[in-house]
Amino acid sequence: LRELFAGVLVVGEGLSPDATEGRRVRGLRRRGKYILLDLEHELSLGVHLRMTGRLWVAAPDQARPKHTHVVVSLDDGRELRFTDPRRFGRVQLDLATRLETTGFLASLGPEPEELSAGALERVFARRPGPLKGVLLDQRVVAGLGNIYVDEILHDCGLDPRLAAHCVHPAEIVRLLGSTRRILSDAIEAGGSTIRDYVGGDGRPGAFQRAHRVFGRQGKPCPSCGEAVRKIRVAGRGTHFCPSCQPRRRRRPRRSSQGGTR
Ligand SMILES: [Zn+2]
Repeated sequence: LRELFAGVLVVGEGLSPDATEGRRVRGLRRRGKYILLDLEHELSLGVHLRMTGRLWVAAPDQARPKHTHVVVSLDDGRELRFTDPRRFGRVQLDLATRLETTGFLASLGPEPEELSAGALERVFARRPGPLKGVLLDQRVVAGLGNIYVDEILHDCGLDPRLAAHCVHPAEIVRLLGSTRRILSDAIEAGGSTIRDYVGGDGRPGAFQRAHRVFGRQGKPCPSCGEAVRKIRVAGRGTHFCPSCQPRRRRRPRRSSQGGTR
């Protein structure tokens, strides 16, 4: 393991990049937005691509592109490379247990498929902020970014500005269903390429062609024909259909049950 540009590779305490030498790759996992490469002897390489990072395996004779920051030499001569023109991405080498309990994974919430509607309901009940911001919070649910939250909220017909604590239990069930469906479709399609994202095989994603609202402001909503709008919610550019995702008056979730508590 070698670092060609300081600041991208973060090595855990007591370890050096040489610790990977001779260690077999035991598995490749994803957790939220992180890629985890598990090595022998409880070591893991955690990779966050951020905006422009790319992790790929290159043939020995393939020239290293500019912005190649971290290189792992494999025993067959090939190289696992991390390239990132904007350098927001990170590669972290650490003990697997430490990576998961103190590193960038420590504060991650559950994966969408592990999250129950009941647990999400309890989180939402404490959050008066806009639904979109709560879904982007990686501590609530892992792996959702700006594109996917917009697509998920359109799919389940919820206004991104709606206060999370006003979302009804039945809507939470629908929201979870949309989350799992959109994410699995997106993974199946190789992700969304907005500018320059390519997967480990060097191919761009295809899910951007299935976007119903993201990046489609002013164009007709595929469900109803109304023009998609772009506004700012939780500090992020947010795309939605005013007719499929209508604004709702703020009202406490359980007001229909009466009572004064
Ligand atoms: Zn619509």
